Amino acid sequence: MNDCIFCKIVKGEIPCNKVYEDKNVLAFLDISPVNIGHSLVVPKKHYVNIYETPEDILIEMMKAVKKISHAIKNGLQADGINVNMNNDPAAGQVVFHSHIHVIPRIANDGFGPWHSKRPYKEGEKELVVQKIIQAL
Ligand code: AMP
Ligand code: ZN
Repeated sequence: MNDCIFCKIVKGEIPCNKVYEDKNVLAFLDISPVNIGHSLVVPKKHYVNIYETPEDILIEMMKAVKKISHAIKNGLQADGINVNMNNDPAAGQVVFHSHIHVIPRIANDGFGPWHSKRPYKEGEKELVVQKIIQAL
């Protein structure tokens, strides 16, 4: 992927502020942090998103997410951590190289919880569960 910004970071063609690295995974500070310490965990190989990323690589990414979560919580005295992955533009993905956000949260930092759009209608939950299970 010639134009992929995260591939360029992995190859060292673009600088990053690295916080963690192992055989398959690199993690670095997000250039535009939600809170200070906001980090991104990326596979070294290019995959577009969660659908493409092999399970074993996702496991490696999550292991790094856990390590970094502990380090951010203890090292930066975060009060909490959000772990988030945007997949597809509709979900807010703008960089199409698979990545997981590790976002430190500070009490009363102003980012509230997600708001529920509406409750389920009568019988809707069962239908939704059926659709998901059939697609597994
Ligand atoms: P997403 O919306 O999940 O695709 O998030 C992409 C993230 O990548 C954004 O939070 C950007 O701030 C971040 N980002 C883009 N370019 C860079 C870069 N060169 N170094 C670090 N983070 C970046
Ligand atoms: Zn890439």
